[in-house]
Amino acid sequence: MFKQNTIQGTCNCGQWQVNVSVEKSLDDLNPRICDCDYCKAHPSAVISDSSMKIDLVGGKAIFDQNGDRLAKFYRCERCGDLLAVGCFIGGVLRGAVNSNLFGAINHFGEPIEIQPRLLNSDEKLERWGRLWGVLNGV
Ligand SMILES: [Zn+2]
Ligand SMILES: [Zn+2]
Repeated sequence: MFKQNTIQGTCNCGQWQVNVSVEKSLDDLNPRICDCDYCKAHPSAVISDSSMKIDLVGGKAIFDQNGDRLAKFYRCERCGDLLAVGCFIGGVLRGAVNSNLFGAINHFGEPIEIQPRLLNSDEKLERWGRLWGVLNGV
């Protein structure tokens, strides 16, 4: 069993702090880069695991949504940094966190490209249900 890893990050302006705990070694977390039009216009890389707890602590967030409007992209209202992407699944807010909030100290795995646009809504929810952690604070 993996020991619990905890990492902390902030958005660029410091208004938001992000506390993450995960039962996995950090180099087993591969930042995922999505190739949809929205994510190409707003580049990001997100990490998640079903054991992950993501606590966002801070000020105001805004969110927007991409093509199919299933997931919400939560951003810092002041600096615009992506904090996390989330979606209610079975009444629980599940999500993946922006891996760029944690600085260079944390060594994640190799980034991988994903193509969720090839999945339909049910397939996405099924995938996120397996892959995403629990998101609090937005
Ligand atoms: Zn900010
Ligand atoms: Zn995308």
